[in-house]
Amino acid sequence: MIDRLETLAVARFTCLGDRCEDTCCKGWGMQLTQETVALYQEKSPELMDAVVQGAEADYVMKRDPVTDYCVKFDAGWCGIHRDYGADFLGDACHFYPRITRGVGQTTLTTASLSCPETARLMLLEADAFATAPRTESRVPFSLKQYLPDGMDEAAALALHQLCLTEAAHADYSPEENFLRVQAVGEALALQPIHQWPEAAAFYFKIAAGRLPAIEPVATDPFHLLQALHGLVGASKASARPRLMRTIARMEQALGVQLEATGMQLAPDAAERYLRLVHHYKQHAAIALSLPLKRYLQAQLSMAFFPFAGLGETLSERLTIIGVRFATTKLALMAAALQSGGVPGEDVVVETVQSLSRFLDHLAEPALSLQIYHEVGWMRPPRLRAVLME
Ligand code: SF4
Repeated sequence: MIDRLETLAVARFTCLGDRCEDTCCKGWGMQLTQETVALYQEKSPELMDAVVQGAEADYVMKRDPVTDYCVKFDAGWCGIHRDYGADFLGDACHFYPRITRGVGQTTLTTASLSCPETARLMLLEADAFATAPRTESRVPFSLKQYLPDGMDEAAALALHQLCLTEAAHADYSPEENFLRVQAVGEALALQPIHQWPEAAAFYFKIAAGRLPAIEPVATDPFHLLQALHGLVGASKASARPRLMRTIARMEQALGVQLEATGMQLAPDAAERYLRLVHHYKQHAAIALSLPLKRYLQAQLSMAFFPFAGLGETLSERLTIIGVRFATTKLALMAAALQSGGVPGEDVVVETVQSLSRFLDHLAEPALSLQIYHEVGWMRPPRLRAVLME
């Protein structure tokens, strides 16, 4: 018997439909599994006209080359859902922004920050990561298993939940919470995996006293923006107006101009950064503490930490989460400066969601890790400096 669990953010989620400002039907090749393709071929072969062979997968929904929308997107809604029913949606379209994983006999469904509505629910609402029974019976055709060999599923779920709880610990700042999670992750990586559930609670107790030394480098904030720009430049061209607004705010705040050939710094770029930090600490750090803690919880939830995530090792996964955290914090600092105080909730959601829609959907970690390696952020003392500045 399969138990189904979902986070409260998933339970509360309803698609915004034609009110969505960044619909998932635009700019993405929504993948189809062989099962859905077989369903179309048997029951509604005319739907095969909307399916193409994709670079990202064998089958993806066709996009309009002018609008970049899915060809079945019609006046704010999915034409397949409307005309054929939910059973005809491929897994990606049916489940997005939900992420479902197998943990033994349990399925755990969480959500991505890349959807404006789930980002709002996860960043702004309390208890978004608590779990409740899931009532929907459909599960993805290819349900991946994440329960490590020899580990009890209740213990794995409890360890994951412990990490989520600790990521929002009230006694520490969001940055310290990340560093505590990182310290615990690095310690777990040295233990046999079956010992993780027992060891983690102890490691969290002592983690605050075991944070790495801090090794700041003055160019770090500029390199964060340059790294983001490099990843955008290396990705497939696509209109991303919300992301471009976020990046433009960061450029303005730091006095940076990003070009295809590199980065131009304004003569007063160093002073601008000091002003940015001063404004954040004086006016926005306290108000943004909770959204940043929830951002970290969302990253760990999406990654089913410490059992999955982008990267081969726990160390790589934590570095990727840490640099994304630092980039998101820098973007929120820029939004705070532009607002003259604390950015409004809509700006917080757009800033986080626009970055997540790009960064959290990079399928390949190699380029990110290469960049982070070159600037030294693979080493915890350097990553700490990037986060704490
Ligand atoms: S991004 Fe989210 S809210 Fe927007 S259309 Fe897709 S599922 Fe709905």
